[in-house]
Amino acid sequence: MTTMTSHTGERLGLDRRAVDELRATFRGELVAPGDGGYDQHRRVWNGSIDRHPALIARCAGVADVIDAVRFARRIGLVAAVRSGGHSFAGLSVCDDGMVIDLSLMKGVGVDLANRTVRAQAGVRLGELDRETQAFGLAVPAGLVTHTGLAGLTLGGGIGWLMRKYGLTIDQLLSVDLVTADGELVTASAEENADLFWGVRGAGGNFGVVTEFEFRLNPVGPLVLAGPVIWPMEQSAEVLRFYRDWITDVPDELTTVVVHRKAPPLGVLPSELHGRPIVSVICCYAGPVKDGERVVRPLKAFGSPLIDLCARTPFVEHQAMFDTSFPEGWWYYFRSCDVATLTDEVIDITAEHAQRIRSPLTAFPIFHLGGAVGRVSDDETAFNGRSAGHTFNINATTATGDGFDEEREWSRAFWSALRPYHTGVYVNFLMGEGQQRVRDAYGARKYGRLRELKRKYDPDNFFHMNQNIPPA
Ligand SMILES: Cc1cc2nc3c(=O)[nH]c(=O)nc-3n(C[C@H](O)[C@H](O)[C@H](O)COP(=O)(O)OP(=O)(O)OC[C@H]3O[C@@H](n4cnc5c(N)ncnc54)[C@H](O)[C@@H]3O)c2cc1C
Repeated sequence: MTTMTSHTGERLGLDRRAVDELRATFRGELVAPGDGGYDQHRRVWNGSIDRHPALIARCAGVADVIDAVRFARRIGLVAAVRSGGHSFAGLSVCDDGMVIDLSLMKGVGVDLANRTVRAQAGVRLGELDRETQAFGLAVPAGLVTHTGLAGLTLGGGIGWLMRKYGLTIDQLLSVDLVTADGELVTASAEENADLFWGVRGAGGNFGVVTEFEFRLNPVGPLVLAGPVIWPMEQSAEVLRFYRDWITDVPDELTTVVVHRKAPPLGVLPSELHGRPIVSVICCYAGPVKDGERVVRPLKAFGSPLIDLCARTPFVEHQAMFDTSFPEGWWYYFRSCDVATLTDEVIDITAEHAQRIRSPLTAFPIFHLGGAVGRVSDDETAFNGRSAGHTFNINATTATGDGFDEEREWSRAFWSALRPYHTGVYVNFLMGEGQQRVRDAYGARKYGRLRELKRKYDPDNFFHMNQNIPPA
């Protein structure tokens, strides 16, 4: 007998026989406490999350997902859905309930004639790039290759190619999704269009997406990309120059500013290791020669400690942050969008960056605009299209030691920026409560999403997510 929790909260005893019935036809793997691999499969990317599900259903295909959903519904279990396991708040694992784990579902199929790709939900960003970059094509996605494609897409998807091609959801043509009733449906512009609107920004709320279909875009394979780095003491001057410079850079250029203590990487001279730095990291999604002309003023600003912005394979650039955000470290985030980098925002940023203690903390500021802002706001549930920048104030320690102090730093920094917040990107939320989820969508879209939730999941079966309660 294993103890499980119903989604209304009361404790249930679960007869092993019920699990055995599920096991009889399940093609993937069912992992319970005490089974080999249990600790490995219950772990998520954020090491500060430590939950113990009663059952992990490692699905091999759509039929397994349908059976897992129906099983959890029948027994009345809490269910968490996991693809890449990178939810900041650890929403893809629960205590006592069931994890519907899609990480074994790795199929990727490129259709060169139609310039589209189908990817199953367990695919990670680097795995998708591996298949698409073989043909000089890409789906715009995030900055770290081990991030799950599913969770990233369902919240929006911001990354190196967004100013040229838009968000990850802007490439989405259709999804296959298992509803709370255990039915497989397709959502696209033509079919279940209301659902297709909702999954593009609030996706995890309506069902388990098993497969995505994306439009592909030409990228590289060589791009002009990488960081230009200055001492962090010069942060305010660098940011003021940066703010003015980016006002008229072409959409091909996406930049991210990162403040941190320089990591001990081989590409950096050892005398820089541990030194507080500010870097402007570029990715030019167009001809390298044009990119060199565009980034020249940045490279010429002040006296950079080092300039690593050069001709690089796109897949290598995509992996540049991989070692800075490994699985198992302790992470805490506060995030917000701001309209512009005003003098006040810059001064707050420069001041708080100097207070970073941990050698592992690195916080990115994304530059939005370009193609992201050209899609009409009503087109998708995602709500930050008119934002200028997204702050992701990430506090990181290797273990629990020093975590509380670093977390306080993140909170204080975020609070200081509060007068300038314009919204928040849902994928960068921790477990911050209903009002923050509402902030991510705005009142109007939040109301529309609640209606949609009532239609597709009236019992709120899928609630281990940035939850939208049914209207
Ligand atoms: C190191 C790191 C770097 C990141 N960089 C970026 C970035 O550059 N750009 C960006 O936009 N975001 C970025 N993110 C945020 C990222 O988009 C979210 O953490 C996202 O939720 C991760 O998806 P996942 O599949 O790995 O997560 P999971 O933890 O598996 O899931 C996250 C949420 O989505 C739901 N979900 C997952 N799969 C499905 C599915 N198949 N069907 C329905 N619901 C599902 C889960 O229930 C959960 O609520 C980053 C995150 C990390 C940890």
